[in-house]
Amino acid sequence: MIIFKKSSDIKKYLSLHAEKKRGYVPTMGALHDGHASLVRLAGQENDLVIVSIFVNPLQFNDRSDYEKYPSTIDRDIELLEQLHTDILFLPEEKEIYPEGDAVSKMFNLGNLENVLEGASRPGHFQGVARVMDILLKIIQPENLYLGRKDFQQVKVIQKLIGLEGLGTKITEAPIIRETSGLAMSSRNQRLDDSSRLEAGLIFKNLQYIKDHSLEKSFSELREVAINKLEHAGFEIDYLVLANQNTLAEMDDFARGVAMILLIAVHFHNVRLIDNLEL
Ligand code: AMP
Repeated sequence: MIIFKKSSDIKKYLSLHAEKKRGYVPTMGALHDGHASLVRLAGQENDLVIVSIFVNPLQFNDRSDYEKYPSTIDRDIELLEQLHTDILFLPEEKEIYPEGDAVSKMFNLGNLENVLEGASRPGHFQGVARVMDILLKIIQPENLYLGRKDFQQVKVIQKLIGLEGLGTKITEAPIIRETSGLAMSSRNQRLDDSSRLEAGLIFKNLQYIKDHSLEKSFSELREVAINKLEHAGFEIDYLVLANQNTLAEMDDFARGVAMILLIAVHFHNVRLIDNLEL
């Protein structure tokens, strides 16, 4: 695996290998099996697998979340080597934002940036769009691999690719979970073992709503799930039913509509998100 820290170096290398099909997996490091699944997928469909690790300060609306974001770079490099990654792009902040991180370019993301994660984390998706715009223009991949764990983020990046006229195709990968059902996330490392087990309740409650969706209304099921989660010490940010395509909130289950349950909670000062398609 070749590690590049400078955009000019990775660009030069890629221009010498222009004939190779590029598959790109952007990450913020502290890698786990969810990330590994994306790297494996990229390896099956491309000649060059490129992974980036960059903790993007612009997408953190909460300073302490940024400061506490886990970093396990040596282990990450080892894992990426085992996965036969060709290139790791590991830039420092000034490489990505040479003029500082003031927001200089805004993207017209429409209502996508005002709902759910966008509503709870003001500026988050502008930050995601900004870094992805820069990274995609450096790497210019044919294929981009994104996890459905961050369902709304996939929509935002799809929108960005359209706005900027980039030719990249997105492949979405399913959510990889711990045995408890908890969606894997770098932030899980901030939970102790017993909390991590308990956090399996998030997915169990989404599953409960899905399993009873033919018998009861969403609001009845939502209330039961929220009570169970709050009783176990989870603070609910949102638990909504939405249209999978538009992310518009829905009051109740509807036939013939692709739906999704989305949840965000705080648990022992860690913010966790999950979703389940219906
Ligand atoms: P992150 O490092 O959290 O920014 O995530 C990098 C990529 O990995 C994003 O496309 C995420 O959606 C994806 N990802 C994170 N966790 C999971 C998971 N549990 N299963 C599948 N993909 C994931």
